[in-house]
Amino acid sequence: MKRIGRLLQNLLFPPKCAACGSLLDWQSLDSHEALCRDCLRRWESEKADTCGICAARVTACNCMTARMERAKCAGFRKLVFYRHGKHGHVQNRLIFHIKRNNDRQTSRFLASELLPSLRALTEGKTDVVLTWAPRSRSSTLKHGTDQARALAKELSLLCGFPCEKLIGRTFGKKPEQKALSTKARMRNAKSLYRLAPNADVKGKNVVFVDDIVTTGATAAACVQLLRRAGAENVFCLTVASNDTNQTREKPTR
Ligand SMILES: [Zn+2]
Ligand SMILES: [Zn+2]
Repeated sequence: MKRIGRLLQNLLFPPKCAACGSLLDWQSLDSHEALCRDCLRRWESEKADTCGICAARVTACNCMTARMERAKCAGFRKLVFYRHGKHGHVQNRLIFHIKRNNDRQTSRFLASELLPSLRALTEGKTDVVLTWAPRSRSSTLKHGTDQARALAKELSLLCGFPCEKLIGRTFGKKPEQKALSTKARMRNAKSLYRLAPNADVKGKNVVFVDDIVTTGATAAACVQLLRRAGAENVFCLTVASNDTNQTREKPTR
């Protein structure tokens, strides 16, 4: 019955590749793929990138920005290094897509891609909980989705760890992170988020899920917030991250 429903839905609304918009062929209709074969191949090659610092494959790289290190982030995994401005990259299109569309298929695809990294981060850990930094109310209303929340929720369904709203936003209008300089981002990020009411993180291993980490300001601010509230470890997990090699700040005294 479910299969027939799905088939009917596919006939009425033919699924399209989340990256290039071309219609998916019949073979991929029944799978959980969000990408056409061509884009999937390109996505795989983007995941095969290597890190400029540790020389590991990007999916195994644990490098993080200095401010994430200072915040004592316990581990940081990503799927791809973000290639800024290269719109031909599948990763850019995927992230652009989930920021602007409430597309469960694509969130589910990315969550399944993140799953091995989540397992690697939390190996042997108990009391694991997933969380995210909520998008602003106006952006959520405008685009009909909070992409980090969607990723964390789908990931939770796949791995069985609970997904809880541990982080809330402070009140009042704050500038968007992307419009600010690196230093201003850190100050802004700290003033942007607070612990969610009734959030219980004491002794927990928290995984902070995000779609993209650029300067690491938001991630660092949230790691700090959760650690101060008593989290045992806070890990970060993201689809795309800037190559740490390029964004590493000069050591500060
Ligand atoms: Zn495609
Ligand atoms: Zn690395």
